[in-house]
Amino acid sequence: MFEALNERLSDVFDRITGRGVLTEADVDTALREVRVALLEADVALPVVKDFIAHARERATGEEVIRSVKPADQVIKIVYDGLVEMLGGEEPVPFNLNASPPVVVLMAGLQGSGKTTTSAKLALRLSKTERKKVLMASLDTRRPAAMEQLATLGQQIEVATLPIVQGQSAVEITRRALQSAKLQGFDVLILDTAGRTTVDEALMAEAAEIASISRPTETLLVADSLTGQDAVRTAKAFHERLPLTGLILTRADGDGRGGAILSMRSVTGLPVKFLGSGEKIDALDVFDARRVAGRILGQGDIVALVEKAAEELDQAKAEKMARKLARGKFDLDDLAGQLEQMKRMGGLQGIMGLLPGVGKLKGQMAAAGVDDRMISRQQAIISSMTKAERAKPEILNASRKRRIAAGAGADVAEINRLLKQHRQMADAVKAMSKGGGKGFAQMARMMGG
Ligand code: GDP
Repeated sequence: MFEALNERLSDVFDRITGRGVLTEADVDTALREVRVALLEADVALPVVKDFIAHARERATGEEVIRSVKPADQVIKIVYDGLVEMLGGEEPVPFNLNASPPVVVLMAGLQGSGKTTTSAKLALRLSKTERKKVLMASLDTRRPAAMEQLATLGQQIEVATLPIVQGQSAVEITRRALQSAKLQGFDVLILDTAGRTTVDEALMAEAAEIASISRPTETLLVADSLTGQDAVRTAKAFHERLPLTGLILTRADGDGRGGAILSMRSVTGLPVKFLGSGEKIDALDVFDARRVAGRILGQGDIVALVEKAAEELDQAKAEKMARKLARGKFDLDDLAGQLEQMKRMGGLQGIMGLLPGVGKLKGQMAAAGVDDRMISRQQAIISSMTKAERAKPEILNASRKRRIAAGAGADVAEINRLLKQHRQMADAVKAMSKGGGKGFAQMARMMGG
């Protein structure tokens, strides 16, 4: 998997590792080479552009972690970008939460591996999830396809709906639903008919079957080896069928990975499984971190940088705590707090973590305390000089006017920010002395 892409990226990183310093030009060159590597791997152009823009932003904006080599930090940035491109850290679970029989609809072009994958999924659900699974082939035009599913069913000891000649796909669907209900199956997998190309008849039939069977999961099976064609197919299907996810087959033979890397960004759909071989158990749950790790092949470095970043956060938190304990809280500290709030998903995110804050949340919203306000406050603080941030009391009228112009704010806003900061600084001072009183003060302030 991903051998060609892995090799190209390794070359890029070989050229920068070992260097003590990296200039902005070095990082630029490396990212340009990553761009070429991704395009050669047949990743969709808009996806590549987005990726590079983000990576560049991070590479220039990211705080330098002194204990980490610059090249390693670049590798980590590329890794993070790949994970994001692939759909984020947490795999999207396969949904079985519906009253049985849970219907799983399998769609895709002929030859994509749909029938084999239906059986792979059935095996997985019956073995690891201990579900009672029934499979039914709706491919009325190709009797061989029906028999193929029956044979696979026997092989993995999963029931298949008995074949009745001459029934339409809709009739088979109704029969399958009824059998599944009557015989107490947990899951019904419907293997729809495939064609060699996306056509209207295929789409209409799949849409009708979906409306009859109300699937919990509607999965498109696509061949990863077909690259951007697979992406186009997925888009076409998704326009007619409310897909819930994708399964990409033949990942085992896919050296480039263009389809796998583009799918999520282009279609918005999560890849749920990868087909990783001809054997019937060769189906892997899709995990963006694992895939990104395979593509980069730099697992040790990624782990190292992650650890260093954690240590840095820890050190910063400790430094802040020491400062607060001394009763100090300047505008830089406020800026740090604002940044942290943003990283934790904004105020709403933080408030969500605190118990019993429903009322407070409402009050804050009424007072106009929202994430946009955090950004404005950040803009104001960043328009100040270092001396002003450390000693807000030197801010006279002319300084305030200058800052207001720089931040696109008005002086009243700056005064509000300063007042809020003063109250917080007082509270911090009180906390460092007496504890309880300061906390009460803090809580009052937040309540407006
Ligand atoms: P369908 O026409 O879409 O139902 O395709 P089939 O299920 O009949 O699969 C076509 C061929 O692809 C078969 O020979 C399968 O063994 C093979 N195949 C399916 N999935 C994979 C996979 O993940 N890896 C590999 N190497 N072969 C696969």
